Amino acid sequence: MAALTHCPYCALNCGLGLREERGVVVGFDRWKGSPLTRGALCSKGVTAWEQMPHHDRLLRPLVRRGGSLVETSWETALDAATAGFAHLAAQRGPEANAVLSGGSLTNEVAYLVGKFARLALRTPHVDLNGRMCMTSAGAAYTQAFGVDRAPTPLAELNRAQVAVVIGANLSSTFPVVIPSLLARLRRRGGRVIVVDPRAGRFVTDGDCWLALRPGTDAAVANGLLREIARRGALDEAFCADRTTGLGEALAGAESWTPDAVEATADVPAARLREAAALLAGAERVVYLHARGAEQQVTGVRNVRAWLNVALSRGHVGRPGCGIDMLTGQRNGQGGREHGQRCDQLPSGRSIENPDHRRVVAKRWDIDEDTLPGRGRTYVELLADARAGSVAGMLLLSTNPMVSAPDLAHTAAALDNLEHLVVIDPFLSETAQRATVVLPGTAFGEIEGTITSLEGRVLRCDQAVPPAAGRSEIDVLRNLANRLGTGRWFRHTRGRDVFDELRRVSAGGPVDYAGITWERLRDGDGVFWPCPSEDHPGTPLLHTESFGHPDGRARFVRVDASPPPEPTTAERPLVLTTGRVLPHYLSGAQTRRIPAQVALSPEPVAELHPSTAAALGLAEGGLARITSSRGQVVVAWGANRRLRADTVFLPYHWPVANRLTAADQLDPTSRIPNFKVTPVHVGPVATAPARPTDARPPLDRTTTARGMA
Ligand code: SF4
Repeated sequence: MAALTHCPYCALNCGLGLREERGVVVGFDRWKGSPLTRGALCSKGVTAWEQMPHHDRLLRPLVRRGGSLVETSWETALDAATAGFAHLAAQRGPEANAVLSGGSLTNEVAYLVGKFARLALRTPHVDLNGRMCMTSAGAAYTQAFGVDRAPTPLAELNRAQVAVVIGANLSSTFPVVIPSLLARLRRRGGRVIVVDPRAGRFVTDGDCWLALRPGTDAAVANGLLREIARRGALDEAFCADRTTGLGEALAGAESWTPDAVEATADVPAARLREAAALLAGAERVVYLHARGAEQQVTGVRNVRAWLNVALSRGHVGRPGCGIDMLTGQRNGQGGREHGQRCDQLPSGRSIENPDHRRVVAKRWDIDEDTLPGRGRTYVELLADARAGSVAGMLLLSTNPMVSAPDLAHTAAALDNLEHLVVIDPFLSETAQRATVVLPGTAFGEIEGTITSLEGRVLRCDQAVPPAAGRSEIDVLRNLANRLGTGRWFRHTRGRDVFDELRRVSAGGPVDYAGITWERLRDGDGVFWPCPSEDHPGTPLLHTESFGHPDGRARFVRVDASPPPEPTTAERPLVLTTGRVLPHYLSGAQTRRIPAQVALSPEPVAELHPSTAAALGLAEGGLARITSSRGQVVVAWGANRRLRADTVFLPYHWPVANRLTAADQLDPTSRIPNFKVTPVHVGPVATAPARPTDARPPLDRTTTARGMA
C-alpha cells in the first residue's frame, strides 16, 4: 500500500493511500481498512490527489516588487517576511501583527501556529477560520457539557431509533457513511427528523421534515422541549442526577406552543407535534447538527436550545444516543484544540485561566508573564486591519477573499495592511494581494495528525516531499530563527511536534498524552481523552459525568430572538449560503481540479420554482441577487425542496460573500451571520457572458465511482 493518509477536505477524514513515482504523486488507492470509512470516498475524495502535482502549485516564493509579485529565493522571501513583522513590532508594538490560519492544517502545524504567534511574534492576535465555522457549536458544548467535542461516535447511529439532522445537508457535506447509516436506521423501522429550510437528497418522503424559516432554530427547539415536557416524557431521573437548570430552560420554552412555533418558524403545528412524539417515544436518539443552526448571531443559543432538547430526554452519554456537531473542515476539530484560537492555549486550555497559563508556560519553558493574553477573533481582526490597528498579518491556508463575510470590506482590510504574508499551496485570491507569498504543502507532502469530527485522532503519512522544498514546520522554524526565538521551534518532523503536543496536553481538557505516533497506525485511530499509553481512548463521552467540576451538564434558558436584519418589502427573501458536493470551502483546491469543475463550474443560486416564476426568472437565464452590502449576477436553478422565501447560494467562489455582513456576529462565538441575509432577487435583462454553458445538477450526491 502506498503512503496512508486522509482526504484533505471534510472532517469525515476518509482514508486513502497515495501512490508515488519518482517523488511525484500519481494516483490513489482505496484504503479498505481505514478508520470509520473503510475505503469509501466521495467524488471529491477520489480526485483529491490531483492537487499535489497540479500545474498551479506554487514552487517558488514570491515577493511584491513594483506592484507585482515576482519569484525569489526562499532566503530572500523569509528575510522579507520577517523584516516586515519585526519593523511593525518595533514601530507600533507586537499587537500590530496578527496571525490567521486554517482548519485544514495538521494538529502539529496548528500547535506551532499558536506558539509562533505568542512566542515569536509576541502577539495575542491569532485565530483560525474555524471562527467562521465551528465556534458556535464549540462554545455551546463547552458551556453545556464542559467539553468541546462531539460526544458520540457516528457508529452509535446503528443503535438509534430516531436521528435528528439539524441544519446539515448530508448529501453535499458528509456524503459518505452518515447517509448510509440513516438508510439503515430507516430500514430498521427508525425515523429521521430533518430541521432545515432546504431538504438535501438524503431526505426521504418518510422523514419528518421541519422546513423552518431561516433564523428560527431556537423557536423550534424550544417548541419541542415544551411538547416533550407536556407529554410527561422528561427523563426526570437523568435531569435530577446529572444536570442543572432544567426549570429555567422549561420556563424559557413555555411560550413556544405549537401555534407560536408555527407563527414564527412556519413549521406546521401538527408537524412539530409529530417530531416531539418521536423524540418522546424513543429511548435512543442521535442528534446531528451543522452550520445551518450555528452561523447566525444566535448560533450559540441555537445550539444550546438543541442541547436542552437532548438533555431533557437523557439522550446523552448512553449507547445509541448523543448529540454531535458535524465539524466541516478536515481538521476543524484538532484545529481548535491546540492553541491557534485567540482565547485558547494548547490542549483546550484557556488563555485566561491562571492555572492553565502556568502549566503551558512551564512546559514551554517561558516566563508566564511573557505569554500574551486573549486576542481578537478572525472577523474582528479584519475589521482592525481596515481600521489600521493591525498592520501586519501572517495567513496560513485560509482564503478570506472568498470565505470571509462582506468581501468588499475584506478587500479593503487586506489592502490596508502594510505587510501581508500568505503561506498557501496555491496563489489564492488572498495570496494575490500579499506582500510575500510562501509556498505551502498539499496534504500528501507533510506528516502529522488530524482529529476527526468524532474526536478520533488519525495519522497522516507523507507520500512525497513538499513541492517547493519546505513544509510549514520548516517555514515557521526559519521565521522564528530570524526573529531570535528559534529555541522554541527546533522541530523538523511532524512526529516530533506531535510528541511535544502530547506532553503539553497531559492533564488538560484535551488530553492526547497517551496517543503515540505508533499507536495511530495500529488500529482505528484513538479518541481523546487518552491520558496514558495503556488507556484505550474514549469514544463515547459523558457516560458517567460531564466535563464541569461538579460533573453535571447545564441546561440554560434560551430566549428566541429575531435575526438582526429583518426582511423588508425591498428585500423580501432570505439568502442562506452553504456547500455543494464537488467543492470544498473557498475552492482554492477543488476549483482547480477538472473533474470537480466539470461537476460544478460556477455558483448556481437555488430558488423554489414558484418563487422563480413570480420573480420572472427565465429558465436558463441569470438572476441578480442584491443585499444591503452589494449585488451579484449568477446562474439559477429550481429546487422544489427549498422554502419559497429562501435563496441558497454556494460559497465556494468569491461571489456569495459579497452579500453577507461582517458586522453581524454572535456575541459569544463571534461567528458571522452567513445564514440569514435579506435579499432581493430579480431577472437580468441582458445576460452577461457566462464562464460556461454547463449547468451543474443541483445537490449531486455520491457517484457510483466514489463509493467503495
Ligand atoms: Fe473527503 Fe468526501 Fe470523505 Fe469528505 S466524504 S473526507 S470530502 S472523500
